[in-house]
Amino acid sequence: MTGEALIVLENVNKWFGPLHVLQDVDLSVARGEVVVVIGPSGSGKSTPCRAINRLEPIDSGTITFDGRPLPAEGRALARLRSEVGMVFQSFNLFAHKTILQNVMLGPVKVRKEKPAVVRDRAMGLLERVGIANQADKYPAQLSGGQQQRVAIARALAMQPKALLFDEPTSALDPEMVGEVLDVMTSLARDGMTMVVVTHEMGFARHAADRVVFMADGQLVEQAVPEEFFANPRSDRAKDFLSKIL
Ligand code: ADP
Ligand code: MG
Repeated sequence: MTGEALIVLENVNKWFGPLHVLQDVDLSVARGEVVVVIGPSGSGKSTPCRAINRLEPIDSGTITFDGRPLPAEGRALARLRSEVGMVFQSFNLFAHKTILQNVMLGPVKVRKEKPAVVRDRAMGLLERVGIANQADKYPAQLSGGQQQRVAIARALAMQPKALLFDEPTSALDPEMVGEVLDVMTSLARDGMTMVVVTHEMGFARHAADRVVFMADGQLVEQAVPEEFFANPRSDRAKDFLSKIL
């Protein structure tokens, strides 16, 4: 179920020195849509995710989120970042805080919400990702898959309008990938707007509304997963799929 555009990149260009890493990228993500971004390493999949949060400035073009251009700084930028949750390959949990404290931190410190209210929400989210019984443990006591599920709960605690995932399962041992993808699939089914950079083609096939293929800084093609996997149009997509499938 998708609605109007929530994230819009128009004609976005980005250079790192001489390297033209995003070349006239146009991408629109509708409310409730799940967009999976695939492509070779170094093709420019992470940079748009970082740009949407303004962790990375762009050199030309426009990005709008929820109808507004990205704010450059100050309180508006802080609000944007709280509305766009990010889940990275490395979970980045605070080692000296418990699982529950990790999930509560953003809403309490950044949003100044009441701890009692946040605690209930955080416990609900830990329940949702299947680790409420680990709430009082520390990150190092959990497996990688459990830690990544905590990172997802932490992102959700800010009640974001969209979640961006940048290779969320790439650092995990193979047996833990499934439990993280299951949580992501459940969020997708519940209507969360998601942009997911991943090499997990099973997830792309089953959970994506649309697959976006990037190569050499260009958005080469995009299609619903059935169409993309059955009938990739560009030579670069065909070549990429032949190597990984
Ligand atoms: P992907 O996520 O598809 O691997 P990225 O978006 O991370 O690709 O990077 C695109 C290109 O930009 C790559 O060639 C990468 O080496 C380069 N790049 C990314 N970040 C930086 C940076 N901070 N400084 C210089 N080059 C960078
Ligand atoms: Mg990347």
